[in-house]
Amino acid sequence: MRILVFFAHPDDETMLAGGTLAFLAKLGAEVHYFSATRGEGGDLGEPALCTRAQVGELREEELVCAVRALGGSSLHFMDYIDPTVGAENELYAFEGDDVVFAEKIMDEIRAMQADVVISHGSDGEYGHPAHLKVHLGVKQALLNLPEAECPLFYTFQGAFSGHPKERVMNVTDPAHVILDIASVTAEKLAAIACHKTQHALFLRHVEPDEQGQRLLKLAVMPLESLHRVFPAVESLPVQDALTDLLAGVEGVTLLAELSIPAKS
Ligand SMILES: [Zn+2]
Repeated sequence: MRILVFFAHPDDETMLAGGTLAFLAKLGAEVHYFSATRGEGGDLGEPALCTRAQVGELREEELVCAVRALGGSSLHFMDYIDPTVGAENELYAFEGDDVVFAEKIMDEIRAMQADVVISHGSDGEYGHPAHLKVHLGVKQALLNLPEAECPLFYTFQGAFSGHPKERVMNVTDPAHVILDIASVTAEKLAAIACHKTQHALFLRHVEPDEQGQRLLKLAVMPLESLHRVFPAVESLPVQDALTDLLAGVEGVTLLAELSIPAKS
């Protein structure tokens, strides 16, 4: 099975779906990573590990490291430039024509003959405009493809009762698959360790804890989830090539019994 993952910034793959992607690689899936930007506008680290001019190059290296840790098959950069975060922490999408962006995504899906595409959710997780732009780009790419060539489309951080970190949950995307990532905690931790420029940022969103345990606690966000966008889910449990791969695997819930929040 060939899975393509499209995301806005280095670290999204790890923080939003690292356990899931490591899990799928362990089951034998090829996982190919596509980052829209090099995170040029993001944190430099505390203390700074580089200059603003160098951060894209450094975050590229960090993502190479993380993809390796997650057992990924390849990594590609789409060469968009991530704008700097605003003075009041305003977040921006990268610039670039939406039609061209969707075409680029479609070309990659076709060239790789993807079985499954995984990307950001329809709320951009916590509303990040760049995450939303990638979500919409993937959606448009798939709408442009002939149905016979259309891979399954799943998104990160689907909503379910008991989600371990509601800040990053896409409230309008009900989860269809929930993964207990305990068996791949080491891989996810290794990937988090790679993203050194972002460690201070990650810790800003973690409850105060004993210093040494903070990163671990964050990583072990013990459950991750996926929402299926295409084809639209009509009944539970969901059945397709991806859920067939996951069926019967320890730690996987193919949603049937858990409550799903109402779609707004
Ligand atoms: Zn991001």
